[in-house]
Amino acid sequence: MAEKTLNPFEICQQQIKRACDQLGVEPAAYDMLKQPERVIEVSFPVEMDDGSVKVFTGWRSQHSTALGPAKGGLRFHPDTNFDEVRALSMWMTFKCSVVGIPYGGGKGAVKCNPKELSQKELERVARGFIRAVGDFIGPLKDIPAPDVYTNAQIMAWMYDEYSIMKGFNNPGLITGKPVEIGGSLGRNTATARGCTFVVREAAKKIGLDLKGATYAVNGFGNAGSFSAFYMKEFGAKLVACNDSKGGAYNPEGMDPVAVNEWKKEHGTVKGFPGSRDITTAELYALPVDVIIPAALENTITSDIAPNVKAKIIAEAANGPTTPEADEILNKRGVMVLPDILASAGGVTVSYFEWVQNLQNFYWTAEEVNQRLEKIMVSAFEDVYAMHLDKKVSMREAAFLVAVKRVVDAMRLRGWLS
Ligand code: GLU
Repeated sequence: MAEKTLNPFEICQQQIKRACDQLGVEPAAYDMLKQPERVIEVSFPVEMDDGSVKVFTGWRSQHSTALGPAKGGLRFHPDTNFDEVRALSMWMTFKCSVVGIPYGGGKGAVKCNPKELSQKELERVARGFIRAVGDFIGPLKDIPAPDVYTNAQIMAWMYDEYSIMKGFNNPGLITGKPVEIGGSLGRNTATARGCTFVVREAAKKIGLDLKGATYAVNGFGNAGSFSAFYMKEFGAKLVACNDSKGGAYNPEGMDPVAVNEWKKEHGTVKGFPGSRDITTAELYALPVDVIIPAALENTITSDIAPNVKAKIIAEAANGPTTPEADEILNKRGVMVLPDILASAGGVTVSYFEWVQNLQNFYWTAEEVNQRLEKIMVSAFEDVYAMHLDKKVSMREAAFLVAVKRVVDAMRLRGWLS
């Protein structure tokens, strides 16, 4: 029977409930964490290039501010919805907590298809959204960043619009900006760097030599393509990757830089010379050592999980594995490095960007990368120690570490008895 598809909000609630139960915390802690503190829904008009007006809907969800201002990306996607945004904001709380950066969790989205908008329309959507939510966000309140189908240019327009609203430049409003206007060096590659640092640490623990190891990447966007580059630096071999339009598989290996060039030119990895097309299900069934899911939620289902042969799955995407699939992978001994850990590199360097903006003092790329590595390795060690200590999966361990820190903060602040 086909797996019942839980929406990400229900999945996230289950994860939090489980951690709260295991930690033995009072019911009020779960009651506080099972939904966002605040969600803003906005509708705003945008003038299209042909002179017509289209009304767009968007959300900004602030899940928790126990550990600091809400923090998290902003996605532009035609299929996004209220529950997805709420869930993603919840994962952000625990993502920031697991790496120990002083933020709560937030997430936003605008329901639109950027692939069907001109640059000018995209700019007007970005500015319109910021005018609509501008009073509810801010450098010390809630700090957005890029996410699926948004980028540094969109962050730049948003930063500019907010600065117009407030009457002075506010670079700390938003992270993932272009470097020329207050972005951090290393932010663009940070999710991928963070992800591959934890792959490296996990490989050491299970005795896998990454030199000569094989890997596949599901979703060749920002996180996926840069992860492929860094895996190559470890000496590993990319044998398959795909995107929303198709896949490329070559057991002899492919150069991720060349694949990326091909994608830039043709809009997809499909058709990369020497490769053959591959479906997502086939990609997950390949006899590779590491798979990096870097696409959307609910990709690894209970149909896909039984066929996985990889030793490590490193979730660069948010929520790629369904709970049923997760259980199957755990039983089969696959080490799943959960999203809240494996995808935390992006928000970690967002934090560095924000710190640099607030102090108006900028770091070198080397400083950024060294600090990122230190944080990712130490977060990995915290989670790994919990995994051994409590004999739970890496995902459960990450939630135990993260939820405990948020609950402790809530207690110290007097939100709990
Ligand atoms: N959108 C990214 C994430 O899901 C980055 C968030 C941020 O940098 O605030 O982690």
